[in-house]
Amino acid sequence: SKPKDDEEIARLKQKYENINEVIIKSFTDLPLSWKTQKGLKGSNYKIPTQIQKESIGYSLQGKDVMGAAITGSGKTLAFLIPVLECLFMEKWSRHSGVGAIIISPTRELAYQIFQTLKKIGIHHDISAGLIIGGKNLKFERSRMDQCNIIICTPGRILQHMDQNPLFNITSMKILVLDEADRCLDMGFKKTMNAILANLPLDRQTMLFSATQTKSVEDLARLSLKEPVYVAPHEHQ
Ligand code: ADP
Ligand code: MG
Repeated sequence: SKPKDDEEIARLKQKYENINEVIIKSFTDLPLSWKTQKGLKGSNYKIPTQIQKESIGYSLQGKDVMGAAITGSGKTLAFLIPVLECLFMEKWSRHSGVGAIIISPTRELAYQIFQTLKKIGIHHDISAGLIIGGKNLKFERSRMDQCNIIICTPGRILQHMDQNPLFNITSMKILVLDEADRCLDMGFKKTMNAILANLPLDRQTMLFSATQTKSVEDLARLSLKEPVYVAPHEHQ
């Protein structure tokens, strides 16, 4: 990696200890790489939403996070920013393989996450791929190992895990379960559990959900280690 990156990584790491959500007024108050800062600015994101303010610090510190906040509250950036930062801090490159997996209940939601990632991640040298079916399995398979960040639907990623012995996810560092409540509502409980059984335990996990149901809590128990719960009040 470049010496300039090493310097920045060391400087950011020092700041991770003292992140105080109370004094975060804008994204520039968070210890984020200049590549991410530039991507946020270019996408016109200035002020973090409440769930972003309250969770990003913990996620940057490498803690498992369970976030509950209503639809439209900005959960996508709450996990995409830490995913990008985690791979940057790990000096991930295009040749490093799969570093992050983001699971979303529907193709449409996965596609929206992908679009947002493309915008805010534009200055990073990191590749991302959508694994949501609709194209043939072989085509998807040939591209997957070159993806650093995989955005997928539960059924499709499990299909690859089952049918593709070369699919290498041993290096992955970070897992995101987005809209976990909807994944479970849609009948993906068994699929989610089977995916989890395939993933390395030595990873960071973020679980986001609009509601905190019993089944979401069950999934959290299975997937998270000593999680920090973040659930901002809806009216602020
Ligand atoms: P959720 O996943 O919680 O339903 P999204 O992440 O889809 O919410 O965000 C909802 C909308 O708010 C999107 O259009 C997104 O671009 C916008 N948004 C998210 N965070 C911010 C922010 N910090 N500043 C301005 N707009 C934001
Ligand atoms: Mg969402």
